[in-house]
Amino acid sequence: MKRPILIHPDPRLKKVCAPVTGITDDLRRLSQDMLETMYDAPGIGLAAPQVGVLTRLIVLDCVKGEGETPRPLAMFNPQIIAASDAVNTYEEGCLSIPDQYADVTRPADVTVRWIDRNGAEQEETFDKLWATCVQHEIDHLEGKLFIDYLSALKRQLITRKMVKLKRDRARDAL
Ligand SMILES: [Zn+2]
Repeated sequence: MKRPILIHPDPRLKKVCAPVTGITDDLRRLSQDMLETMYDAPGIGLAAPQVGVLTRLIVLDCVKGEGETPRPLAMFNPQIIAASDAVNTYEEGCLSIPDQYADVTRPADVTVRWIDRNGAEQEETFDKLWATCVQHEIDHLEGKLFIDYLSALKRQLITRKMVKLKRDRARDAL
């Protein structure tokens, strides 16, 4: 089931999310809903706070090529346990900040440890777009958005556009 995606600014996008203590059916269902919501958007990553749930859960799939096999990942309590000194710059966007993009520089490679949907611990090193995406999504669990890496001026400009977008959408819904 698709869930509505919160649009910045929203206080729920600024909260530190709580760790998961066990993988329940409700959490499995939430991760499935989030993947469905992400693919539909379409996007390559989504964090639970973006659908209003303040829990440490992210989903991602950075396989984008035609005919390539999708690789949906759901990570509970994801943690970056190592990051490279080498950095990479990607133009980032966010489903909670529609149509706004900006360059963000982050470690090029990161090793992430997480709990999967079966409750098993996983560990993997990601590079390229996967590395950027997983860091962007884990940031969401700390209440941090990609625009927090930009200058205050750029951030305010984007935030004002989002306030207007939300106002327009609310009016259209009447
Ligand atoms: Zn995002």
